[in-house]
Amino acid sequence: MSIPESSLSYLKKLLDEKTDVLITTHYNPDGDALGSSLALYHFLLSQGIAAKVLIPNELPSFLQWMPGIEQAIIYTASPDFGNDLIASADLIFCMDYNALNRVKLFTDELRASDATRIIIDHHIQPENEFDLIFSVTGVSSTAELLYQIIDEAGFAESITKEMAECFFVGIMTDTGSFSFACNRPETFQIAANLIKTGLDVERVHRMVYDTYSESRMRLLGQCLGTNMKVLPEYATAYIWLTKEDLAKYDYQQGDTEGVVNYALSIQNVAVAALFTERGDRIRVSLRSKGEFSVNEFARDHFNGGGHRNAAGGDILKTMPEALAWFESLLPAYGAEIHNSLVNYK
Ligand code: 5GP
Ligand code: MN
Repeated sequence: MSIPESSLSYLKKLLDEKTDVLITTHYNPDGDALGSSLALYHFLLSQGIAAKVLIPNELPSFLQWMPGIEQAIIYTASPDFGNDLIASADLIFCMDYNALNRVKLFTDELRASDATRIIIDHHIQPENEFDLIFSVTGVSSTAELLYQIIDEAGFAESITKEMAECFFVGIMTDTGSFSFACNRPETFQIAANLIKTGLDVERVHRMVYDTYSESRMRLLGQCLGTNMKVLPEYATAYIWLTKEDLAKYDYQQGDTEGVVNYALSIQNVAVAALFTERGDRIRVSLRSKGEFSVNEFARDHFNGGGHRNAAGGDILKTMPEALAWFESLLPAYGAEIHNSLVNYK
């Protein structure tokens, strides 16, 4: 797979012409959103382009060490400044999201902007709202795709150790530490190239995964011990977290990251869901094994989307209603989920 030459030359032309470059990413930014955004930030800086990075909301503590994060602007902390940046930008990068409303808080401002919009993303079915599209679903992560763009544009030599850390966080977190979405040899080749810059893989892993607070670990205990239901007849398991649960364990942004994967790691479970109560809605996080598409499931029922095996959405109901509704949807999918499991083995 290679990036079309015409897209690369158009990108170079835009970077030559445009003066106000803004890098944006999705609401509740994860390791790939921040990793790809900051890697791009450092790369542009190395080419003499001082871009700004605009993040919709607070990031999890386990990503707060990332190089360059202190330069990023958090929209919730200064919305007026964020709006000014969007209005004055003439080139906007949309990193790791495929629909403008994924930024949630400044969707209208993005849409109203007359800047040229470039998407770099690996989610399926990108919206038709972008002027230049780098959208590849076969890669592990947006970080991997960005690496490939920079490499194919002839700039791999300018990747520094701090950029490598950003790329690596994106690839590592979006593959669950190289355990899914990582069957492409290129993913490991890129990782190897990143290590050659002096990147300390073990340190990066420690910074992201070995920094749980006690309350986060105990929240996980509550999820697995009390708040999980397994439905063997539908090869499905789900976990729920009410506002009370979150308050009890002093929930901090990022504390539920990875929780849904525990439900999926049960043998003979092919679909896993995490329901989290947030304001007036229930946030749903979905995972699947094999060909069963939680992207379609989330699009059809939860006004969401994502990838085939990892997706999310919202339900405008109370927690008991949402859980009952979810269970009521399953019988129609039972055979498909079971087939997914059988073919997956
Ligand atoms: P997570 O469960 O980790 O929040 O999200 C899993 C995947 O689904 C991510 O790749 C994310 O980008 C995507 N996703 C999560 N929520 C939504 C949503 O509401 N809409 C869309 N289109 N994608 C989502
Ligand atoms: Mn991603």
